[in-house]
Amino acid sequence: MEKNNVIWDDRYVKRQERNRLYNHKSGFVLFTGLSASGKSTIAHHVERKLFNDGICTYVLDGDNIRHGLNTNLSFSREDRKENLRRIVEVSKLFVDAGIIVFGAFIFPYIEDREYIRERFEGDNFLEIYVKCSIELCEQRDPKGQYQKARAGIIKNYTGISSPYEEPRKPDIIIDTEKTDIENAVQMVMALLTERKILSAG
Ligand code: ADP
Repeated sequence: MEKNNVIWDDRYVKRQERNRLYNHKSGFVLFTGLSASGKSTIAHHVERKLFNDGICTYVLDGDNIRHGLNTNLSFSREDRKENLRRIVEVSKLFVDAGIIVFGAFIFPYIEDREYIRERFEGDNFLEIYVKCSIELCEQRDPKGQYQKARAGIIKNYTGISSPYEEPRKPDIIIDTEKTDIENAVQMVMALLTERKILSAG
């Protein structure tokens, strides 16, 4: 295939070959939900468990993306789109490299999450809705950002001054008001097993 003068060479190692070597599939697992709903916490707990079992994983979240690759982007609609595009393209490379990527990102718009699904062609993309009321997220406020958003110091803050569109058909919903972290991890493990991500086949 040739596009923009970039040639993909068939002699290159393919994702399926890496999946066979690592003995599991690779894919992009999106944890979407309000800030402080528990996305990063659950993603890192699942990653620890899988890593201990010898599975290649990586968590991408606001901390390691916004402070590095996307440090030059704001939270305007336009920059959010570029933020999304870069995250998707980086994740696609990770997935091609045989890694299960856990993306802990708010991604508040249905349109944006549909864009991700299309870029992954469906077969290796999973959407997990980490659900929690805005009231409890605000109480948790681990980084003090809700307080700043209420005070108007942070503009366009999802849930306060910017909308969050709930997923219509997520692969699973984890309600962190009712589900503790241990059970949340089990729910993700069950999903990965059911979708055969954890087997080579
Ligand atoms: P997010 O990545 O969605 O912004 P974080 O994972 O950074 O959220 O923060 C969620 C906070 O809520 C953490 O301090 C975590 O310990 C706490 N928490 C309480 N109960 C749960 C739960 N059931 N699942 C996940 N996090 C929880």
